[in-house]
Amino acid sequence: MKFTFVTIFPEIIRGYFSASILNRAISSNLIEISFKNPRDYTKNRYKKVDDAMIGGGAGMLMTPQPLCDTLESIKSENSQAHIIFLSPVGKPFKQNDAKRLANKSHIVLVAGRYEGIDERVIELYADEIFSTGDYILTGGELPAMTICDAVSRNIKGVLGNTQSLETESFEDTLLEAPSFTKPEKYLSKSTVSEFSKGNHSKIADIKKQMALCKTKYFRPDLYRKSKVRQ
Ligand code: SAM
Repeated sequence: MKFTFVTIFPEIIRGYFSASILNRAISSNLIEISFKNPRDYTKNRYKKVDDAMIGGGAGMLMTPQPLCDTLESIKSENSQAHIIFLSPVGKPFKQNDAKRLANKSHIVLVAGRYEGIDERVIELYADEIFSTGDYILTGGELPAMTICDAVSRNIKGVLGNTQSLETESFEDTLLEAPSFTKPEKYLSKSTVSEFSKGNHSKIADIKKQMALCKTKYFRPDLYRKSKVRQ
């Protein structure tokens, strides 16, 4: 799977892929990361990628020409590339999207800066628009990395242990049950004693009840949707 980041700040993103699971995924050719900088596609002598808003408004917007030429160059190499814009006005990115997108062969993640991107670019090129949450960041690089990371974990071979994918939060719309490691007693806190007794069906039952309680408390919206109530 190939990911192309369209960003005027590739250096923000590069470091994230230099360690751990995603770095191994690159070394094993399971994922490929590339960058396109709209500044390299500008046709003005100052390599300017932003301009004031027509009709007034605070701040600057990313102008169409550098971004459109960047995206055209990507599409000329691969017309099937799936283009995603990051924006607070996009649909909320969910685990189901991460799983679905793991079946694509080439995802392009377009990170906005300034006050965002001229709407016509989005209308012309977006296959999807995603928000990573109801807050405003200074740029789309973090959301782009978030999506790349979440999608990559769902690509076969990226995670050593695929069971962790099946038991994680948002499977069956529940949050994951609390988990513990050694030691069994730490300061004044103990783990759930049944977890150490080896009765796996009992452990699964307790975990299910704990997951339900946790979801009901932290995410009543998910709890209401859950089909795993009993
Ligand atoms: N003026 C825009 C608005 O009010 O919706 C916010 C622009 S924001 C300062 C600049 C860029 O950061 C956006 O173009 C987008 O790419 C990215 N961004 C900021 N918050 C985001 C979020 N919650 N989800 C996805 N992208 C976001």
